[in-house]
Amino acid sequence: MIDFQSVIEDIHKDIKHDVNRGLVASYIPELSNIDPQQFGIHVKHINGNSYATGDWNVPFSIQSISKALSLALVLPIYKDAIWERMDVEPSGNPFNHLSLLELENGIPRNPFINAGAIVVADMMVSHFKNPKQVFLDYVRDLANDKTIDFNYTVAKSERLTGFGNYAAANLLKAYNNLENDVDEVLDLYFHQCSIEMTCEQLSNAFFMFANHGKCLQQKERLTSSQAKRINAIMLTCGFYDEAGEFAFEVGLPGKSGVGGGIIALLPNHFTITTWSPGLNERGNSLLGMKALEQFTTKTKLSIF
Ligand code: GLU
Repeated sequence: MIDFQSVIEDIHKDIKHDVNRGLVASYIPELSNIDPQQFGIHVKHINGNSYATGDWNVPFSIQSISKALSLALVLPIYKDAIWERMDVEPSGNPFNHLSLLELENGIPRNPFINAGAIVVADMMVSHFKNPKQVFLDYVRDLANDKTIDFNYTVAKSERLTGFGNYAAANLLKAYNNLENDVDEVLDLYFHQCSIEMTCEQLSNAFFMFANHGKCLQQKERLTSSQAKRINAIMLTCGFYDEAGEFAFEVGLPGKSGVGGGIIALLPNHFTITTWSPGLNERGNSLLGMKALEQFTTKTKLSIF
């Protein structure tokens, strides 16, 4: 049996003082105030054991990591009809790129670029009376933790500066791929991104993806086929235009966010969350990528 606690402690010790930590995201003004020295790792094993080190218990802005959870919420409802409104191909472009959306007639490349996640948010607005609360409750249930909440200041900060997301939503609307009002859909999108969670809460919330669709409480949230499909999208599209590099270096499905979090998982084995706010030039946490590369190399646990 691998000693996960020593593995993550060794990794943490090895890289926690790295001078090159990347840059904290500043395009959402409220995110730029984060202390870049923070660094945490949390592993949830499929047998229920947890291993943690560093700042694993500090809540941070999950941002784009929320896109995997919103997709998981709508997939059992809309099923294959989802794929009439978006594709499952990597974009090879940054998360907020718009040119492909226009070239491809308002069909986003995948659910994890902003345009795709905005269509998923539109589905939630169409289906639920109070989609913000439903999404928050869903995340709380998955993580088995009622303390999880939106950060309203971050959501507002993003609304005030989210011109690119307004452009994407308007383009989707022009191509008839948005059923609801642009402001209503973006209000949900900005709030889902603003949710704050710790590494532990994220490892717990993503447990279902490592457990054939059954969450921590062993309740079926996704069929095993739906979990497989979202894992496939995480592997191919989960890291902006660096998904190839992440598969090459780390070899796990996962999802990153500009808050500096990365969640990755190995089906039947574990979920692992890293958090360090400094990002590389492609928007992924620099220490997080390094830690995960070391983790799969040391444990020899990856999908490849
Ligand atoms: N709310 C962010 C945006 O749409 C998410 C960015 C991210 O984490 O990739 O710009």
